[in-house]
Amino acid sequence: MDIASVIRAMPKVELHVHLEGAFSFEFLFKLVQQAGDDPSIRTIDDLKRRFVFQNFNQFIETWFWKNHFFQTADDFQQSTYYTLRELASQNVILVEAFFSPWDFQIKGLTAPEIITATIAGKEAAEKDFGISCHLIADLVRDHGSRTALKRLDDVTPFLGKVIGIGLGGNESQFPAREFETVFRMARERGFHVVAHAGEAVGPESIWEAIQILNVERIGHGIRAVEDASLLDYLKMKQIPLEICPTSNIKTRVIKDLCVHPLKKMYRQGLLVTINSDDPSMFGTTITKEFEELQRQLGFSWQDLRRLSLNAVQASFASEMEKRKLAAIINYYWTKIK
Ligand SMILES: [Zn+2]
Repeated sequence: MDIASVIRAMPKVELHVHLEGAFSFEFLFKLVQQAGDDPSIRTIDDLKRRFVFQNFNQFIETWFWKNHFFQTADDFQQSTYYTLRELASQNVILVEAFFSPWDFQIKGLTAPEIITATIAGKEAAEKDFGISCHLIADLVRDHGSRTALKRLDDVTPFLGKVIGIGLGGNESQFPAREFETVFRMARERGFHVVAHAGEAVGPESIWEAIQILNVERIGHGIRAVEDASLLDYLKMKQIPLEICPTSNIKTRVIKDLCVHPLKKMYRQGLLVTINSDDPSMFGTTITKEFEELQRQLGFSWQDLRRLSLNAVQASFASEMEKRKLAAIINYYWTKIK
């Protein structure tokens, strides 16, 4: 098998992907056609061209433009279903996916209705494609802690079907410490907790997420390289880092993959995992992320296997599920050698 086929077929576990940024182009095209208000988009390729960005403003504009096609609960159910189908086709065996129903202000459709629809889409996909999906509600920092608390209340009745709480959004204007109470309540209610930190802001943001929010994993965390004592701490405690290489390059946190700190962090023994963040928005896939590690950073088969096993260890799967997932991964790599 050639390298691309080995990487495409390898069993993968992804821990940091946002459903809103991982839509299937096929499904979005269907919604655009139904809406019938954009004559410039006649084919899926026209639609894909719309997602090639010159600057950040265009990125944000396109994000909202894409969101406005989502109008009914069924749209969310189907979108989740098609996204998971696409991931399953890349042999993703477990995904822990962020979703943020509050990003959509749709007349007559409440956040709990969007959550219900997303769960239905996930359950149908699990049944049809054999993929496992754990949902994590991203409360988003940008509206402050009071809004975040209301959002936690929206999600709480779905505990079990939604397993965790995340915190994305504007890291520099809304520091983690403002969400201490929300995160304490989320933990007390039985949610897993994670937060984006150390992407736009330096090591202090990661320390806050760990020490004040008590998060179980860090989203991104790449700016930990600026603080040797933090690197030691992350290594000692084996706190997982959800690293998203292409995303960091597209948002210009990192110039290119060759200077990305992930290799250093991985070689130092930190618990690094590889993820795609918003693959449809950033023109990537989880498969491409691994391909580039192999091609540009010289990661070996053994490294790719280790990264997959890291993701199993860092996931919120039960111990029994983890053993099963690890066995699938190990079996695959035994065959390749
Ligand atoms: Zn993210």
